Amino acid sequence: QKYVYDFAEGNMDLKDLLGGKGANLAEMTNLGLPVPPGFTITTEACKAYLATGEEPAGLAEQIAAHLESLEREMGRPLGDPDDPLLVSVRSGAKFSMPGMMETVLNVGLNDRSVVGLSTQAGGNDRFAWDSYRRLIQMFGKTVCDVPGEEFEHALDEAKRAKGTTSDLDLDADDLRGLVDAYKKIFSKHTGREFPQEPREQLDLAIRAVFESWNAERAVVYRRQERIPADLGTAVNVVAMVFGNLGPDSGTGVAFTRDPASGAQGIYGDYLANAQGEDVVAGIRNTVPLQELERIDKTSYDELLGYMARLEEHYRDLCDIEFTIERGKLWMLQTRVGKRTAAAAFVIAGQLVDEGLIDLDEALHRVNGAQLAQLMFPRFRLDHEFEPVAKGIGASPGAASGKVVFSSDRAVELAAEGESVILVRRETNPDDLNGMIAAKGILTSRGGKTSHAAVVARGMGKTCVSGADDLDVNVPQRRFTVAGRTVNEGDVVSIDGTTGKVYLGEVPVMPSEVVQYFEGTLDAENTDDPLVRAVHRIMTHADQRRRLAVRTNADTAADAARARRFGAGGIGLCRTEHMFLGDRRELVERLILARTDQDRDAALAALLPLQRSDFVEIFRAMDGLPVTVRLIDPPLHEFLPPLEQLAVNVAVAQERGEDVAKEEALLAAVRRMHEQNPMLGLRGVRLGLVVPGLFAMQVRAIAEAAVTVVREGGSACPEIMVPLVGAVQELETVRTEAEKIIAEVVGDSGVEVLIGTMIEVPRAALTAGQIAEAAEFFSFGTNDLTQMGWGFSRDDVEGAFFWRYLELGIFGISPFESIDREGVGRLVRIAAEEGRAARPGLKLGVCGEHGGDPESVHFFHSVGLDYVSCSPFRVPVARLEAGRAAV
Ligand code: PEP
Ligand code: MG
Repeated sequence: QKYVYDFAEGNMDLKDLLGGKGANLAEMTNLGLPVPPGFTITTEACKAYLATGEEPAGLAEQIAAHLESLEREMGRPLGDPDDPLLVSVRSGAKFSMPGMMETVLNVGLNDRSVVGLSTQAGGNDRFAWDSYRRLIQMFGKTVCDVPGEEFEHALDEAKRAKGTTSDLDLDADDLRGLVDAYKKIFSKHTGREFPQEPREQLDLAIRAVFESWNAERAVVYRRQERIPADLGTAVNVVAMVFGNLGPDSGTGVAFTRDPASGAQGIYGDYLANAQGEDVVAGIRNTVPLQELERIDKTSYDELLGYMARLEEHYRDLCDIEFTIERGKLWMLQTRVGKRTAAAAFVIAGQLVDEGLIDLDEALHRVNGAQLAQLMFPRFRLDHEFEPVAKGIGASPGAASGKVVFSSDRAVELAAEGESVILVRRETNPDDLNGMIAAKGILTSRGGKTSHAAVVARGMGKTCVSGADDLDVNVPQRRFTVAGRTVNEGDVVSIDGTTGKVYLGEVPVMPSEVVQYFEGTLDAENTDDPLVRAVHRIMTHADQRRRLAVRTNADTAADAARARRFGAGGIGLCRTEHMFLGDRRELVERLILARTDQDRDAALAALLPLQRSDFVEIFRAMDGLPVTVRLIDPPLHEFLPPLEQLAVNVAVAQERGEDVAKEEALLAAVRRMHEQNPMLGLRGVRLGLVVPGLFAMQVRAIAEAAVTVVREGGSACPEIMVPLVGAVQELETVRTEAEKIIAEVVGDSGVEVLIGTMIEVPRAALTAGQIAEAAEFFSFGTNDLTQMGWGFSRDDVEGAFFWRYLELGIFGISPFESIDREGVGRLVRIAAEEGRAARPGLKLGVCGEHGGDPESVHFFHSVGLDYVSCSPFRVPVARLEAGRAAV
């Protein structure tokens, strides 16, 4: 098996095998760009290594052969004492996982080749010894698990001895001394000397990169980003080039468009006399890339040329890492760059304008999660809040929360339900858990490409980086800015678009995109590029999608908003929500009724209230289909809890009050108490047991429809029966309902459909029978998941899902995204068998999954007619339905 590829042998379509970095290095090499030579060890080799703990057979020989040809090409052997070749060993998985896995630079240096390196660098001893100490440090930490602080400590010690705070003041002798100190640390922790044999260094570094695939932070990151755990990483072995050889050297990161806003132009950061990792780590503040024009115009022009070339080739925003070694430009990496949600839309629109992609492709370039982000509120700026600092708007959004200074504390407070802002000087991969837990991230150092910025953008989390007015004191858990001290627990607000930082909680307002959906911002007459791009892409999605999108709404206000957001009807109106508030008393009367008369009176009192609710909803939907679900939850949910009621009665009795009514209520609550209410007297069962209840609701729906039609409007009610498991249940309800409908509707022209939810597994499995009595099915995937898995939907998330996620039993909660193989299979069976029994059977879904991007694609693929979701999810579902169709 071939485990090693020269860059010239690969291309960008081999990401599975070569990882993103390797595939793109190959692509750039083949485009003729100046990439330092090297080779890639495949993800297959990594997987084999991780499975067995040993390199697969043949790998060592293949590495040797490719190393030899690399040495030939470079004209110097790895670690040669007189003229050494040095290599970097870099991870690179199929999906970019910034900073999560390992990299070792300067492999090939030892006590002898350090001298050769100095000669190579024109007698630059300082550089050579600094490179060597970096190798021992990186190698020790990542390959041999030597605690990184020990090296940091020794470095601080050397600086203190020299009376300085900057590494740059250490001279060659100091660094040579530091190398000795580092070697001692190394042998103390590993029980062996620092390996002098270059090939051994290389092999150990490769192993360490393989193993870093399973490092804890990488595992956490993959879970967060839903990256499969079994892909493995490739390893790139690349000839070293040096950005730290003096002022005519440097390193930087460039974007072909602004990854924050999508605007066209030259974006990036440059750091003179530094190595690549220094930029990403945000160690020193960088200068804007444009400054490079002044520093080294030749390289700058050359870089711009390559950037244009790469954009055209990839037909997308590219990000690039480059190094200049004594005036010679080297391209170290490129990839289709991460971007904010706003930039994704804007860039997709621009690329259509430029003729690089068509609108279908533009649809693929954006997604529902990004659209959802654009619908988050933003700060209201017309008020008295003054920013106390301004950093770089690294990842947009408006976040307020309590300040914390450590990842652990962020996780702790977030678990208590607090919003937190994680404040750090700069973040590193160990902060990942805290970044996930926080609402926003604020750093005092680092640019748009620092770790914090890149990771936050990837997660869609608000981030302000490089707010250098902040003096962050992590050990003391406070920062000072503009003469004020902010302690842990104080509230700040950060604006990831403008980079502004405010003290206190700043009020928020709807985002531009929401204003557009609401119709208060006109896409044709705005020059906001984002709104125009969203409008254009949404319009195309609507043209392309086959799935209709409805909404789950129980009030006229929600219904009206969902219509503005593009809903084509109501897929679920939960009538139980109309039994709350001051109507509760009527429900109590119903439950306590001792005689038919009492019960009828209670129902008669509820009827006009229900009717007027439906009238309003039908008016709001103006002829669009409205699926009204008959009451679903157990009635005792509308009564006070048992314990509380028992206490009240006891207390009142004690006081000698008249408690006859309360006692009756208590008795009813006791009578109706269930061990498993979710599997108890609810849904259709309730309709079959409580005489007149469903009849009242059916009458209210039909009468409301007639009312609206008589006043000149139109109404398309669809009555939906919940929790059906057997066709007989549905038939019984249907027979009674049809009678009432016929009586109420008369010759008004109103048509009422009767259908059912499919949310009990048995219903899915007998869908052929059920379809005989149903004009439509709506999949209640919440209950279908609950009963399909046997997971109590109200209890499991906190109880044990974390463990299931940890073990990879599922990658995401099945209540959030449909479990295709299990619950999804039930949906597929019911859809097929239902349609076989009744061609033209209308099929929809109204569980939470109706607004989940992944699930929408599934529902498209099984041939449903519509998805229904909460009003704010409607645009997301429209977009994803369009994406599913192209
Ligand atoms: C469902 O079960 O998916 C559903 C929509 O009904 P509810 O969430 O009201 O139980
Ligand atoms: Mg349900």
